[in-house]
Amino acid sequence: MSLTLVTPTERTCERCGRTEIWDDDVGSWRLAVDDDGNPQAIGSPYCIHEWDINGRFVPFEDESSAAEA
Ligand SMILES: [Zn+2]
Repeated sequence: MSLTLVTPTERTCERCGRTEIWDDDVGSWRLAVDDDGNPQAIGSPYCIHEWDINGRFVPFEDESSAAEA
């Protein structure tokens, strides 16, 4: 089988669908591209990205404490 697995080195925005991969060379996320160098999913530049990393690593999600200040 040849499945495209979502690993901790790849993240997808749940809002706009942007896909980024971790680039060890530069130590930051960058837009995922295919074998020809074409962007996979750019998403929206105005999106407040909500990254889904393997469906488990969600650092800022805490609905129970979302009270207005
Ligand atoms: Zn987004």
